[in-house]
Amino acid sequence: MAVSLHPLKNYQDFCVDATNKIPYHIDVVSTSPQGYMLTDYHYSGGTDGLIVLLHQVYPPESFLVMFRYQPYPTYNLPFVLKPATEYKLQLFRVYTRRGKEDIGIGNSHSTVATFTTYMTQAEVRELYMKALAYLSDHRPRFTIITHFYRNKSDEYFTNIMTSNGVMYKYDKNWGGEQASSLNKQIKGLFFSANVDPVTMTPPDISYFGPVRLHIPTYLLLHDDINMYFSDFYCHTVKHKAQLVLTVKGSQTDFYCQQRLVLVDKRNNPFLMRAGYGPFEAVRVTVNITVELFYTEDVPIIAWRNMNHNVYFTRTKQKGKALAMVNGVPKNKDCRICNLDCFLDRLAHDLV
Ligand SMILES: [Zn+2]
Repeated sequence: MAVSLHPLKNYQDFCVDATNKIPYHIDVVSTSPQGYMLTDYHYSGGTDGLIVLLHQVYPPESFLVMFRYQPYPTYNLPFVLKPATEYKLQLFRVYTRRGKEDIGIGNSHSTVATFTTYMTQAEVRELYMKALAYLSDHRPRFTIITHFYRNKSDEYFTNIMTSNGVMYKYDKNWGGEQASSLNKQIKGLFFSANVDPVTMTPPDISYFGPVRLHIPTYLLLHDDINMYFSDFYCHTVKHKAQLVLTVKGSQTDFYCQQRLVLVDKRNNPFLMRAGYGPFEAVRVTVNITVELFYTEDVPIIAWRNMNHNVYFTRTKQKGKALAMVNGVPKNKDCRICNLDCFLDRLAHDLV
């Protein structure tokens, strides 16, 4: 233990020597399904030890962790955190300084980082069961689609089509489940399988941009792809299920295997491969919106050159696309699609 307590004349002594009075920013990042570390890349000062105050918001519980000095910008929390739980964390740095006649102790501190731990497979399975229950409460309605689609701005697609024609995957935003283990962890591209329940064709409006790219379903969903259930949520009325498509054996596939629920591609109530060969299509539920997160790059021009039926259409823009970039959080008040632990918390907050 490199941190030791010295008798102090008064509390002022403890604070007076702080070299960095401005709180600095820290982050908490996931290292394993329930393992977390704090990162402290912004601090550059002397340190003899670290004290971490970790507060679990509900049920309220606090932890104190002490680290002796390590010359690293990252520190693993030495215990697992509860999944899908909100925490607040603050870091204090303690150092001793030799004055002319005495030794002083100083400190500096970080801002308070608030974070929600990711869901583990158990919580994703709970949402999966809730999604199944929701679907079984409704008369099953399906439609057959031949293409998945993705709406973006003119600028986005023009940039791609005037360069190498490859649509590159990027970080998932913070929409949907706040505790989703995909947030900022894996890269991909969102596609939709949603159809208008009246016309049974893709709706002619989009929140994400007026240009719609259509990709044959068999190019994104085939024998070499695993399909995982990752999320069930709503913003207003219609519920959404999110499925993740990974190339079997890839690093992303391994990541999803540990955290999500593997779904049978030819037998599930959300979205299934139907038919074989060149006539393969997809059967999708119309009772909920099915979104796909495809975790590979999409070579639009290359696929087009191979005579796959990849094409663009135009749709009406609805709402502000910019607001959608950071994702819209799920409806916290919904009793259908929230984890029981969040609902318990909600009930607690209302008391
Ligand atoms: Zn809901």
